[in-house]
Amino acid sequence: MVDLWMPGATRHSLGNTGAMNGGPARAVWHITSNAKDWTFARELGWFTGGGASVAPHLLWDPFTGEIAQFFPADSRSLSLQNAGDVKTNRTGKYCIQIEIVFTEGETVNGKKYATVRDTPCKNLDKIVAWLRSLGIPDTWPGGAPTGFTRDTVSLDAWLKLGGHYGHNQVPGNSHVDPGPMPNLFATVPAPQKPPTTKPKVSLAHVVYAAKHDPAAAQGHTSYKSEVLLVEKALAAEKLLASQWVDGSYGTKTLTAYAAWQRKLGYTGSDADGTPGKTSLTRLGDKHGFAVTA
Ligand SMILES: [Zn+2]
Repeated sequence: MVDLWMPGATRHSLGNTGAMNGGPARAVWHITSNAKDWTFARELGWFTGGGASVAPHLLWDPFTGEIAQFFPADSRSLSLQNAGDVKTNRTGKYCIQIEIVFTEGETVNGKKYATVRDTPCKNLDKIVAWLRSLGIPDTWPGGAPTGFTRDTVSLDAWLKLGGHYGHNQVPGNSHVDPGPMPNLFATVPAPQKPPTTKPKVSLAHVVYAAKHDPAAAQGHTSYKSEVLLVEKALAAEKLLASQWVDGSYGTKTLTAYAAWQRKLGYTGSDADGTPGKTSLTRLGDKHGFAVTA
């Protein structure tokens, strides 16, 4: 289960939810860009009042770490313009929009901040963790924003690629925010991928089994289990009937493997039913075993 409301954000539901159109999940980053340098409280007042019609999902103050949320993750929010017929607010399973309370070159407590990157980015790690939990990949399909200029991605890329976008990259829009951004993905260590636990099949063992009398090859128990993996894969390819999935590399298996080789485009003696490295690796990639020497 995902949290449609970000843990740690104060909830200011605006109601007025709208369905998403599905597809790869993404996030869009904005800055509020208010020359008067409004505070979090005043931007919150705006988005829950007169600005509700252009509200994002999240409002985040990178100096204080305050975060407010206006829509649940599975609703569209309203900070984007359409690209022709494409309702960009609705693109993807999620299109989480984040308004950062920031203005280019603003002064906070006597210090001038050129970009969001220069701010303390307080609680950004919590936002990134939540976006990851929604399945938004750690990538900027159009590259991380580098300046306050338009850098629009193609409509095709926008529709097909999940990840993070700047408002300046979304097709059909005219804004140039958010400007240079911090390295989002370094704020929280990426979850470790579990080590691959694919069973291993030795090419040499299977070749031995294919070339020798099945009864002799079966003497090697490890060979038998490896041949079984190959046979199961051939059965899954509908090239070998299930009664021949027996760990014995006999003529049925040889014939089935030759059919696999032909399926890959091999002919003649290259399709003789004795595994080669490429054909076995292709079979393993498709059916969950790793090939060793
Ligand atoms: Zn914007």
